[in-house]
Amino acid sequence: MARVYNFSAGPATMPVPVLEEIKEELLDYKGSGMSVMEMSHRSKVFQTILEEAEQDLRDLMNIPDNYKVLFIQGGATLQFAMLPINLKKNGVFDYIVTGQWSKKAAEEAKKFGKVNIVATSKDKNFSYIPDCSDLPIDDDADYVYICENETVHGTTFQTLPNTKGKILVSDQSSMFLSKPVNVSDYGVIYGGVQKNVGPAGLAIVIIREDLINENLDESVPTYLRYDIHAKNDSLYNTPNCWAIYVCGKVFKYLKSIGGLEKMAEINKEKAKILYDFLDESKLFKGTVDPSVRSLMNVPFITGSDEKDADVVAKTKAAGFENLKGHKSVGGLRASIYNAMPKEGVEALVEFLKKYEKENA
Ligand SMILES: *Cc1c(COP(=O)(O)O)cnc(C)c1O
Repeated sequence: MARVYNFSAGPATMPVPVLEEIKEELLDYKGSGMSVMEMSHRSKVFQTILEEAEQDLRDLMNIPDNYKVLFIQGGATLQFAMLPINLKKNGVFDYIVTGQWSKKAAEEAKKFGKVNIVATSKDKNFSYIPDCSDLPIDDDADYVYICENETVHGTTFQTLPNTKGKILVSDQSSMFLSKPVNVSDYGVIYGGVQKNVGPAGLAIVIIREDLINENLDESVPTYLRYDIHAKNDSLYNTPNCWAIYVCGKVFKYLKSIGGLEKMAEINKEKAKILYDFLDESKLFKGTVDPSVRSLMNVPFITGSDEKDADVVAKTKAAGFENLKGHKSVGGLRASIYNAMPKEGVEALVEFLKKYEKENA
């Protein structure tokens, strides 16, 4: 068995101890005589898996009691629609557009009301985060929306926007559980899990209880209603049992290594290794304003498309997978999520240093 260093933006690398445990339990989960993927979502055994997953997530993120945790299929993309549908009161939604994912979310929200783009970094290809301390927030805005870590462009909000009293909704897909966050600062935090937590096909939605609307228009499809998922404790229909099981394992793993404070420390240390190299390198350079660099997604370029492609090919041959940048940005991108070991980043930097020397 040869595992590569996988720098994929998602689905992405997972902690090996978790994969080992899953392998161990694959045919017979804790004496049940069956795999988790074969058991009823209404069974006692699965009930325990679901409850423990939620509790461990609550412990990790310090989620206050007045927030619900929902496990919903459809990925983060379905939330682009569920959010405006469920939070709609005045039908006005304020979006801060800092990259591909917030742009997509804003486009989707237009189907359900009036969308204001209250700030954007589009003018410089989303390479920075605009000043969000005094934005023209609409008096009627039902919420203010951000994508807190833009996966494609590699930026992260360092301070949350001033929403002038409106609730803040944050897509944390590519930074979920990468550092402690203060849940009470948000109305809704959500994320698809396949970036930094588990397998694809599941979104986790953390929503303040009073924002769950039970009086939605009857035309809203049942599955798209937060109140239905909340009332049924994420078991309105068959959930993504497998993904919930794996995420639960990752939560326990994160607790075992010291929680999100520890994880943030490790992530900072890892990212610094790569950014320090990029800052010193004469061949490679980062594409993002240093003050808002993501600790998770690191885009960089050589300045020549040909050379970028050559680096991607040579890194791949050397066991570093998925370093090709997103097609909208080009160049390279190293996603160094929680589960990427420090050794992986160090090995990549060594390789890039060698490449630079040989191609000077
Ligand atoms: C990947 C990603 C999405 C889309 O996730 P899906 O689960 O594929 O729908 C949305 N937002 C961000 C920030 C992402 O990184």
